[in-house]
Amino acid sequence: MNPICQDTRDRLLESESSASDDASLSAHLAACGECAEFARRARQIRASLSQVSRVAAPRELDGLVVAATQPGSRQERAVGALSSLARLPAPAELVGRALEVLVEGEDRKGGRSSGRSACNRVVNIEAPRRIAPGTFVDVEILKGLPNSLLARPVLLPVPVADPA
Ligand SMILES: [Zn+2]
Repeated sequence: MNPICQDTRDRLLESESSASDDASLSAHLAACGECAEFARRARQIRASLSQVSRVAAPRELDGLVVAATQPGSRQERAVGALSSLARLPAPAELVGRALEVLVEGEDRKGGRSSGRSACNRVVNIEAPRRIAPGTFVDVEILKGLPNSLLARPVLLPVPVADPA
């Protein structure tokens, strides 16, 4: 997809309101039928979601939630797993550390390889070449951002020596 269209759609999904007060966004929507259609569908979905949230939860749900968190239940273990995730180091504390990353593809802008660490963080990798998806790479964290980490591979491919 054209990067302007991609960016437009990201902004449409990220903004809470209609975002139509943004001049560059509305200019693109006026010129691009596909993005205008995307914006129309996003508005529809948002409208139906806002109606869903007004429906009250059934009263028996309270009891179900309590039952689900009784000792030994699968849900309780899931809650335990989630709270241990919350104790992971903050992104900034990871700078300078090495992590193993499973490369999944490219980052959102399509310039860098991107993957996930074992601690389930999105890691974008600065490397001279795109890394094949499915590869495990050891990286050093260069920068910790709120939603992703920037890293570089610890070991670059060793150059092949010329025959003597
Ligand atoms: Zn477009």
